[in-house]
Amino acid sequence: MSVRVRYAPSPTGLQHIGGVRTALFNYFFARAMGGVFILRIEDTDQERYDPRALQDIYDTYDWLGISWDEGPRVGGPRGPYFQSQRTELYREYAQKLVDSGEGYHCFCTAERLESLRSGQEARGEGQGYDRLCRGIPPEEARARKAAGEKCVVRLKVPLEGSTSFHDRLIGDIERANRDINPDPVLLKSDGFPTYHLANVVDDHFMGITHILRAQEWIPSGPLHILLYRAFGWTPPEYCHLPMVMGEDGKKLSKRHGSTSLVEFRDQGYLPEAIINYVSLLGWSYDDTRQMFSRADLERLFSLDRLNKAAAVFDYKKLEWFNGVYIREKPDAALKDELLPFMRRAGLVEDPATPEQEAVLLAAAPLVRERLRFLGDAPELLRFLFRDPPPYSREELLPKKTEPEEILRYLGEIRSLMEGFFHRSDPENEEEFRLLAERLHTRLGSLLMPLRVAVTGSKVSPPLFESIRILGKEKTVARLVAAMEMLAARE
Ligand code: GLU
Repeated sequence: MSVRVRYAPSPTGLQHIGGVRTALFNYFFARAMGGVFILRIEDTDQERYDPRALQDIYDTYDWLGISWDEGPRVGGPRGPYFQSQRTELYREYAQKLVDSGEGYHCFCTAERLESLRSGQEARGEGQGYDRLCRGIPPEEARARKAAGEKCVVRLKVPLEGSTSFHDRLIGDIERANRDINPDPVLLKSDGFPTYHLANVVDDHFMGITHILRAQEWIPSGPLHILLYRAFGWTPPEYCHLPMVMGEDGKKLSKRHGSTSLVEFRDQGYLPEAIINYVSLLGWSYDDTRQMFSRADLERLFSLDRLNKAAAVFDYKKLEWFNGVYIREKPDAALKDELLPFMRRAGLVEDPATPEQEAVLLAAAPLVRERLRFLGDAPELLRFLFRDPPPYSREELLPKKTEPEEILRYLGEIRSLMEGFFHRSDPENEEEFRLLAERLHTRLGSLLMPLRVAVTGSKVSPPLFESIRILGKEKTVARLVAAMEMLAARE
């Protein structure tokens, strides 16, 4: 049997870590098994539908480099892949359940259901439909419907016994039928299906063999099994994925930090880091290996190595992975990754000029080790594209030095700049050392004011390399500006 799996997001909000984990596991499972990965958009809830959420699904998986074999934009033999385009099918199958006696039409009004609910609440009883319409004879129901009375279709949940299913990870899950939602609505009065009906009908007609989804869907399991049975279909294999928690043991949410992919992306995480780390949320290859590329996971992923225990989302660990992948990037690739961040910070144009590209390429090796996120780059590299940010006079003065002294040093350094660009870095270091000797001062008392003058800050990427990228003209101009500042109050 060839594997067919699906990721079935509802386009109601942004893609978050949990959804991405589900999508990745389905995708990697399909790839590793030589199967098919399907994207299905569960957009039957018209009120909560948000077109930006659909765009976010495309953007997220395009960015991660995860593509689907069947689904929106690519089509496929079992489409359409938007549930909103399959409503005829759901209506037809809801009717089949009514015809076979597994379902029934319910004519209860919103008012009746509301008073039922408030009565149950007042009496402290469990909530749920009282199955009033389950007893209406089929002919009567048919006549009332034909006369135009508004109705929904409900499933007849057996009154006794229990329903069970096997979950590959968790084992057997059993539920007493009396504890299942009494006769859930399958088709609403506007002709749109509920999640349960659409989900089961689609999984069947799309030939889904395995359902890999979050554990929060376990409670729907028994109901879905009843639906498969009512239709006379064989259910797919279930595998509910371990929960993803924050460090406090509560379900991962905004309280813990960023959860939507777009936030991670904007902060400057690399897709490689996200894929690697998220794949380890509830899965392992062996007990030691940590580094996995997308291509590795496409070969190595297997359901046998899923963990039963909940996974804890560790932001620091993800940051660590990001650093590793940033450091692995060759200069040109790192430059390309940094460009959008530099553009967004207004430091390079869109598109970047050849000079800007060249500066960024030369600067990439200087910051590679220092970046936790790509988004750290604009601040570190700003001085290469703009005048340095304003600094105070004090910042130019190492401890226990006088302005005139530093003014003199900077004058000497300015002269050194004449030959600077013809010398190697070790040669320049030697020149500065000799200069410090001659001036009877420490090397630091030369380099610190120079660094502040050139970069506007006491911390910067390596100084000589930075100066080399900046060029003689700008370096000298900045030295002169610093000297003027020191001279001004003399
Ligand atoms: N549309 C559901 C969701 O948003 C799909 C759940 C399932 O995979 O069955 O997660």
